[in-house]
Amino acid sequence: MADDTHAPVAQATPFPRFIGSEIYRSSSYGAWHPLRVPRVSTVMDLSRAMGWLPAAQFVTSPRAKPAALTGFHTPRYIAALQAAEAAQGVSAETRARHALGTPSNPVFKEMYRRPATSAGASLLAGELLAKGGVIYSPAGGTHHGMPDRANGFCYLNDPVLAIQSLRRNGARRIAYVDIDAHHADGVEHAFVHDPDTLLISVHEANRWPRTGALTDSGAGQVYNLPVPAGLHDDEMALIADALILPLVAGFRPDAIVLQCGADAVLEDPQSRLTLSNNAHWAIVAALRDLSPRYLVLGGGGYNPWSVGRLWTGVWATLQGAEIPDRIPQEAQDVLRALTWETPQKRRTPAPHWITTLRDAPRGGPISEETRSGVQYLMRRARRWV
Ligand SMILES: [Zn+2]
Repeated sequence: MADDTHAPVAQATPFPRFIGSEIYRSSSYGAWHPLRVPRVSTVMDLSRAMGWLPAAQFVTSPRAKPAALTGFHTPRYIAALQAAEAAQGVSAETRARHALGTPSNPVFKEMYRRPATSAGASLLAGELLAKGGVIYSPAGGTHHGMPDRANGFCYLNDPVLAIQSLRRNGARRIAYVDIDAHHADGVEHAFVHDPDTLLISVHEANRWPRTGALTDSGAGQVYNLPVPAGLHDDEMALIADALILPLVAGFRPDAIVLQCGADAVLEDPQSRLTLSNNAHWAIVAALRDLSPRYLVLGGGGYNPWSVGRLWTGVWATLQGAEIPDRIPQEAQDVLRALTWETPQKRRTPAPHWITTLRDAPRGGPISEETRSGVQYLMRRARRWV
């Protein structure tokens, strides 16, 4: 072990930091890809318009060097991804082997630089959190990336790289919580047998990638809860109170990584879950005090208004800023400038997508499937904790 007797005493980051980049403003996966819409730039613009993002709290994301990605990804895949960006095309062999140049993972101008920037943020977050603190990287959360291939719009797996970086920087026990509508298959692939990485994923049942079964248990630390279409805020509150928070608290993590995908809300086109953004903000707040290090990532989210509003509210929650019922004109202008075209039509935003950040809560009765899933996992947890 290194002798650190004379090392300077690092301080916990005294206030939450936001890691972002301008690369997300102008890059697109292509004309009709779900990730054609602006997301992180909306969050940056809205947060600034609300007065919530002073320069001292903003960190420009570095771009990860290729060698820094090999903690999870194969050198051969990284080289193929860089070559595809340089050539703006792939061979049939590369497409077959690495799933690059497919409808989901297309060739586009920044196809290496953009994910390498999100990965750079996650790697940096682990360093900045060495002595504790709170970091938000809404460009992160690409939880489907696999060691040797792209998967589900994810070219790299920044949550895995974040967990590895946190561990290199002093966190041993790490809790990963994922409330994206899709299962965190790449993260589970990386840590399924690691008893020091608690993995909790809540995702829509019978939806791509169709992994993440209730019965997966890994080394006893994998908790997957597939939930039925129509999941609403009251059910998510039950899942948080009866499953997520007790599991994380019982694990006593040195760090928590929350993947806060925005695709489980009613307005999102990629799932049939019906949460309001209140559900996400409640979980963001509740996890905050359960460990000294807290990294919140983005993830899915394909309606430009709902993802921009939700993720800006995440930053407000981390900041302790009060979200007003009606946002100021300057912030409304950010939302009003967004467009969302589909091959069929140009979508018209609902009025409250422009004038508010907070959705109306969406509650209802608890489904038997959700209740029994939570009970099943907590019975298992009592044997494990
Ligand atoms: Zn998703």
